[in-house]
Amino acid sequence: MKFATKAIHAGVHPDPATGAIMTPIYQTSTYVQEGVGNHKGYEYSRTLNPTRHALEKNIAAIENGKHGACFGSGLAAIDCVIKMLNPGDEIISTNDLYGGSYRIFNTIFAKYGLIFHFVDMQDPNAVSALVNKNTKLIWVETPTNPMMNIIDIKAMAAIAKEAGALLCVDNTFATPYLQNPLDLGADMVMHSVTKYLGGHSDVVMGALVCNDDALANEMYRIQNSSGAVTAPMDSFLVLRGIKTLHLRMQRHCENGEKIANFLTAHPKIDKVYWPGFENHPNHAVAKAQMRGFGGMISFTLKGNLIEDALAIVKKVEIFALAESLGGVESLIGHPATMTHASIPKEVREKSGVVDSLIRLSVGIEDADDLIADLSKALA
Ligand SMILES: *Cc1c(COP(=O)(O)O)cnc(C)c1O
Repeated sequence: MKFATKAIHAGVHPDPATGAIMTPIYQTSTYVQEGVGNHKGYEYSRTLNPTRHALEKNIAAIENGKHGACFGSGLAAIDCVIKMLNPGDEIISTNDLYGGSYRIFNTIFAKYGLIFHFVDMQDPNAVSALVNKNTKLIWVETPTNPMMNIIDIKAMAAIAKEAGALLCVDNTFATPYLQNPLDLGADMVMHSVTKYLGGHSDVVMGALVCNDDALANEMYRIQNSSGAVTAPMDSFLVLRGIKTLHLRMQRHCENGEKIANFLTAHPKIDKVYWPGFENHPNHAVAKAQMRGFGGMISFTLKGNLIEDALAIVKKVEIFALAESLGGVESLIGHPATMTHASIPKEVREKSGVVDSLIRLSVGIEDADDLIADLSKALA
């Protein structure tokens, strides 16, 4: 089955009791058993709930995976992956990582004896150099936030395989419409469903997908034991959101390309970071592993003044000044004072997060209106 058909139909069936075409919101904590152990597959909603179950099967299908699990947030999904490890195990991770991922690794799990290494994964040799017998997980985020660097998933899969380590890819930015890490050799895919999969900025949720049965057992064991599950209502909203993921992503990509080109031609703009440009340092890798380049764009201003950047994010009217991304509406952010404010200036500047860097999550509004909005703010 092709992507659009799976997005709409995978995991969902008309309700057997009523014929309702949409998966009902099974707002229930427990399920009546006819006799001890004689039930319909559902015993208690932390373990499994029918609305969540439909969504888990749907997300697994669109990632070309066998097993899916949904969590109360993207970070709760990451928490589940790290809990598969033991004290002394080492993790090699992308260095320009989503801030919350960096925080859970360094401030929650490091104190349980797990050892994290952060490295620029654009150079596979730098990753290989960190591998030792304790390496148990390679954690990849691509494209990265906010610099839109691209990491070669196949190259990371080869390193993980040789090391006997798991490879998990945070596929939040690309979405399964543009990139399927399991097909490129990853063992596990993680999503902040909050972003493009939900797509409407109304739910916080996370997901994991994998193919291996033993890995899936461990994933479900931790999901049930730690209990960071998602609710039936939120599962319903995301099932509804995913039905239009392919259409939304097509428009995010189209609008992203138009705005990236507009910014490049603008006299006040210095650099534009978008993996669709042929002169992007890893455009060839992006082209090989992605089917489109998305609507996430970062850019800097000539003169690199923080006041100029702050004036622009304040002046736009259609773009909303907010954290997060991936919704139908366009958002604008200033990483140096928002998402990356806790990182020391010298450290953030080394990875490119300079004072005038602005990040856009281009929505699916009319591109002409979005360009007019940016044009006015830049003037
Ligand atoms: C938002 C985000 C997360 C965290 O997900 P939450 O749903 O906010 O917990 C992880 N990785 C990336 C790339 C994100 O954008």
